[in-house]
Amino acid sequence: MGTPSLKKISKPQPYLLQFEWQDGLSATILVRDFRDECPCASCKGENIMGTTYSFGMKVNKPGMYELDGIHPVGNYAVQALWKDGHNTGIYTWEILRYISEQRGLTNEQLQHYAEQARKEGVIS
Ligand SMILES: [Zn+2]
Repeated sequence: MGTPSLKKISKPQPYLLQFEWQDGLSATILVRDFRDECPCASCKGENIMGTTYSFGMKVNKPGMYELDGIHPVGNYAVQALWKDGHNTGIYTWEILRYISEQRGLTNEQLQHYAEQARKEGVIS
């Protein structure tokens, strides 16, 4: 029962994150999707009596999709630090597992984003 533990997080490209799990699952996701899945109350809204109230503004701030760092929180979560100063997102293993399963990119998608990144000069 429960969520397997996360073994490793790496950043294979400036716009990609890779999650490796104890049970063998490996998922590569967009840094952008990682931010969009930020579980904090101001991004996701607060669930009060079954209704979700969103206090956050979904605006594109400079640096909001640039990851400054990821810090471990105990052995059950990580905290993401973003270039726009946002740092209240605590991603538990459960959330990371959900993101790995829902947002994991296929090889085709990875190729597509690599091409796009090359065109935009993000990678050479
Ligand atoms: Zn957030």
